[in-house]
Amino acid sequence: MPKSQHNWASKGGALDKLAQKGPIGELPRDCQLVGVGASKSTIRKRPKKKFICQKLMLALIDIAKDEGNLSWEKKYRNALYCSDQMITGNGRGHCKYCKHRFCTICVSICKADRINRLFPVLVEWPEPQFVTLTIKAKKHWDLKTHVKAVLEAFGTILKRKRKKATRKSGLPYIGIRALEANFNPIAKTYNPHFHLIMYNAEMARDIRKDWIKYWDDEKIAAPYLQQASRIKDLNHHLKETMKYGTKIFTDPTMNKGKSKNSSFMVYIAAMHEINKAFDGSRLFSTFGFKQPTTGVRIDSGPNVTDAQYWQYESSICDYVNIQTGQKLTHWAPNCEMIDLLTQKMDVESK
Ligand SMILES: [Zn+2]
Repeated sequence: MPKSQHNWASKGGALDKLAQKGPIGELPRDCQLVGVGASKSTIRKRPKKKFICQKLMLALIDIAKDEGNLSWEKKYRNALYCSDQMITGNGRGHCKYCKHRFCTICVSICKADRINRLFPVLVEWPEPQFVTLTIKAKKHWDLKTHVKAVLEAFGTILKRKRKKATRKSGLPYIGIRALEANFNPIAKTYNPHFHLIMYNAEMARDIRKDWIKYWDDEKIAAPYLQQASRIKDLNHHLKETMKYGTKIFTDPTMNKGKSKNSSFMVYIAAMHEINKAFDGSRLFSTFGFKQPTTGVRIDSGPNVTDAQYWQYESSICDYVNIQTGQKLTHWAPNCEMIDLLTQKMDVESK
């Protein structure tokens, strides 16, 4: 590699120079980038994601600080600076990412990547079914224990089915599962639950039965709450399943999607409880088949000759070209969004 070229993700690379804010002349137009980079349409949406992420992380840092929780404060601070700088070249944008699952930027990249990989597989399934498996909602002090319990329950059900399939030479369960928990601001409880896409109707019916049988208590796993239905729009349901983790915006009246978005709230203390409860657990997995890989080597990006360097400026909610001062997208949050992430942030309820 010629001396003027830089691998910006490596030590001493162009991004590190950018971070140091050294003399502009030191930033080369030609450099080697890492990974495939984000497309133009993704980049156009990035300032909005960055704006939401920063507001959430600043609030979460305060919650962790108040709790005296240094390790979570550090994690949130890491996500606060996620993709602060960007290099564009060849029509794509390259950043350094924090890779935390509670980071709105990283999680959306991960989800989009999974959807792209899984859709071609799932579309071949004979009659994919959407299944929801849940248990009784819990208070925050019980949440971690119950997250572990539902994961253990699901693992046991899969294991039993695999054993049975080996003995009778049938099929093990085939599907994908995503774990989610949302906060109920009225009851102040959390509902750990799975969204599944199962291979066919028989498997959906059986796994629902196994779930009810496993808990064997209507007060814990009420049969009417365990639902299975045929998928008509795979793309829609795959996106629904990929909303694992937790929601950012919650309807305080729990009016099942009937309220206007403008009345929603952000329950930030509850979000922190969910983040802690999920820490170390796998929120998404596939079973009965192998998840296809992307086939893209992330360590060998393109050589570009038109590199431009951008820094996110929170005061204007956009990336700014550090050489020309030009804005990247000219996006700006509307009043409703500013209100949601400031006035309508509840830092107490959990
Ligand atoms: Zn991130």
